[in-house]
Amino acid sequence: MKDEKIKLLDKTFKPYIRHQRIMDAIDGVAREINADFHGCQDIPVILCVLNGSIPFTGELLQRLDFPCQLISIKLSSYQGTQSTGTVLNVMGLTSSVRGRRVIICEDIVDTGNTIVALKEMLIDKEGAAEVRICTMLLKPDVYDKPVKLDYVGLEIPNAFIVGFGLDYNELGRNIRDIYVLDEQPMKYYILFGPPGAGKGTHAGALAQKYNLKHISTGELLRAEIAAGTELGKQAKTLIDAGSLVPDSVVEGMIETAFDTIKGVDGFLLDGFPRNLAQAADLDKILEKRGESVTAVVGLMIDDETIRQRIKGRAIIEGRADDASDETVSNRIRTYHSQTEPLIGYYKAAGKYWDVDVDAGTIEENRERVLALMEKIG
Ligand code: 5GP
Repeated sequence: MKDEKIKLLDKTFKPYIRHQRIMDAIDGVAREINADFHGCQDIPVILCVLNGSIPFTGELLQRLDFPCQLISIKLSSYQGTQSTGTVLNVMGLTSSVRGRRVIICEDIVDTGNTIVALKEMLIDKEGAAEVRICTMLLKPDVYDKPVKLDYVGLEIPNAFIVGFGLDYNELGRNIRDIYVLDEQPMKYYILFGPPGAGKGTHAGALAQKYNLKHISTGELLRAEIAAGTELGKQAKTLIDAGSLVPDSVVEGMIETAFDTIKGVDGFLLDGFPRNLAQAADLDKILEKRGESVTAVVGLMIDDETIRQRIKGRAIIEGRADDASDETVSNRIRTYHSQTEPLIGYYKAAGKYWDVDVDAGTIEENRERVLALMEKIG
């Protein structure tokens, strides 16, 4: 296998599974099938799902040592507009399977929508006596169906692959090895600092320059509530009752944002994590995705400036409660006791950077923050 990356249309793929490892996996699957069908009195059907499974079925067939018949089927699947689930368009079953035992040969099982619907159709509509599922590859993190997969060659993480029958827009099926999409890792920046440091003020410029999605947990909560989602309803109940929204709810929202927001190079977290427990949870959330915090961008001001800025902001926004000395002191205390320890946490991980934004105009400070980002890279 060449160690080089390949390009198919607009995407780059890097080497992933060597041809020999695919062959070894097919050897294993064939051994299991041969053991199960040894001495069978019927002639089981090997059903090749076109086009992706052609190389796999071809290799498997050469290893099967009982009398069997090869037939194939071409499917196109799509999600129905109603909640009826997957609709299968059968474009050809090359021979009848009525009363026969069938082994479906699939290249890859992802959600399992295709394979489960195909199995159901072969039994209910085509009258197969028994249907077993054999797949060269399985993405166990995505497969969520209760249907048993009888024979699995290799399990792989949830990534987009091509080669050995698998295509990207019909290209790549003829490649001997399997390649995986070469994606730049997502960036996860944490915009950090005491209240009034200007996180909200500078987030927009950073997000725009680096193609990041600015995620303010406060804004996310308001959006979930406005959209009436399950999470939003839970949050609203708590907020209406005067309680704090628990870490798990905030983290649920952040994970949803990571899952659903596309087309950006990364995220700029603002207002999260707020304490060490949340920082540890964030690490776990990112670890599950095979990713990690890129850097913490700290905006530093001293307590007196916090006091002045919050008071000033409260007057401008007409929030008299925020202007009270007691409230401001409370927020400063909470920052020092709960949030500030994060500096040590991220310094230990070699991910903490900060800039002094105590003096200077908004524009001057923005330049400083952008210069810091350049330094972080
Ligand atoms: P499922 O119905 O299990 O979600 O998807 C099965 C079909 O999706 C496969 O037969 C294959 O055509 C396509 N598929 C799923 N994952 C991949 C992948 O990583 N690469 C390619 N090329 N096709 C995939």
